[in-house]
Amino acid sequence: MAIFDYAPAPESRAILNLKPSYGLFINGSFSDGADTFKSISPASEEVLAEVALAGEADVDRAVTAARTAFEKVWGPMPGAERAKYLYRIARIIAERSRELAVLESLDNGKPIRESRDVDIPLVAAHFFYYAGWADKLSYAGYGTKPLGVAGQIIPWNFPLLMLAWKIAPALAAGNTVVLKPAETTPLTALLFAEICQQAELPPGVVNIITGAGPTGVALVNHPGVDKIAFTGSTEVGRLIAKSVAGTGKRLTLELGGKAANIVFDDAAIDQAVEGIVNGIFFNQGHVCCAGSRLLVQESVADEVLTSLKRRMATLRMGDPLDKNTDIGAINSAEQLGRIRELTDVGDAEGAERWSAPCELPAKGFWFAPTIFTGVSQAHRIAREEIFGPVLSVLTFRTPAEAVEKANNTPYGLSAGIWTEKGSRILQIADQLRAGVVWANTFNKFDPTSPFGGYKESGYGREGGRHGLEAYLAH
Ligand code: NAD
Repeated sequence: MAIFDYAPAPESRAILNLKPSYGLFINGSFSDGADTFKSISPASEEVLAEVALAGEADVDRAVTAARTAFEKVWGPMPGAERAKYLYRIARIIAERSRELAVLESLDNGKPIRESRDVDIPLVAAHFFYYAGWADKLSYAGYGTKPLGVAGQIIPWNFPLLMLAWKIAPALAAGNTVVLKPAETTPLTALLFAEICQQAELPPGVVNIITGAGPTGVALVNHPGVDKIAFTGSTEVGRLIAKSVAGTGKRLTLELGGKAANIVFDDAAIDQAVEGIVNGIFFNQGHVCCAGSRLLVQESVADEVLTSLKRRMATLRMGDPLDKNTDIGAINSAEQLGRIRELTDVGDAEGAERWSAPCELPAKGFWFAPTIFTGVSQAHRIAREEIFGPVLSVLTFRTPAEAVEKANNTPYGLSAGIWTEKGSRILQIADQLRAGVVWANTFNKFDPTSPFGGYKESGYGREGGRHGLEAYLAH
């Protein structure tokens, strides 16, 4: 999605003003936490910066700052005034987009082409979009009363984009926020904190507290928080749902997925193969809505797989800052361990593994794009989210069988359909239990579209007019 034009020069770290250490962003300024931790580059394992770790007292300071800002400044401020700040933030993000893209790729490991052309333009687009809602809330039809202080917890796969999905609608609706980024990717959130300063956002409206699980627990359990918005694993989502039960806090959860990407025999095969590659290898497969289960009609399975392997052999893995890189680094040693463990289970259960012939760099965390054929629905690699560049291939004979297999999952976040028949798209999409269904495309995002899951993929919607509902009292 090309919203801005970028200079074609190679991406360089020289654009960054990376500091050796970062504090917590509370009440408009940076301060120390209870401890520190290191953020490393997953592609080289070099330490990028030392980051403050928020303890319970720091979480309390952040929530108190957010409460005061909500009551005294942001809550009473007319929507049109709030919009001005959001537009200003959006414009600064657009102006500093290359710097943000380089930092995102360094800290996360994703290819610069993706952070530059997808993540950061979408981040700016979210702020522009929700800025437009701030003075039109009554049109959203949900009432105009904000909830108060929102505690927001996000994962590492799209660090700044997940921040935008959380902060932009919350602020537009008149809430203040305390956001905790993931412990492996805190840096762009802290650069965003500097952007809030640059935009002269009133102190306390946005607070960024860095740390791992325990910092998240302290935020979830803080009595001064009115709403929790969480994106992450289904396992942690369950814990959070238990913690807030009976407290009166509002909750939205965006969790895992195991999406079916369904290719019918009348699909344009070359186009479908591109869609399969994009569906599972975009962002190293660290995508909750990744098309991680390919369901291909038996009559075209051989043709699709031959073409898919040929295409996978052209994927270039390596330095995230190289513009020619298609596949970057796995975000952490821990995540690489999870991917290895589940793929080993795939071997043990009798599925057949094929990996693209990539040379793995000596340092950092890497996993070559991989497919498993001969997968049955009972296999763990067909049921569990791998969250890596690994595709499980299953076949089907009839459309009814495709629907049955696609829905045979505890998740329900997304799905894809590849066919030349428009009527089939409508018919199948109607039967799929998934929050988003793409037809003849995959992994397309837009701030105007709601996004969210069924079943164990969570509840609540982010994006679009629907995304405001989560931040307004009825
Ligand atoms: P995770 O659940 O381990 O961590 C997510 C965030 O929660 C991190 O900031 C982490 O520090 C924090 N956290 C960990 N334990 C916590 C606790 N007990 N209480 C409060 N906060 C806690 O997930 P992850 O490994 O960082 O991310 C991968 C998962 O996120 C995948 O399952 C993926 O599908 C899911 N995801 C979903 C979406 C979506 O929109 N549905 C988007 C991105 C990622």
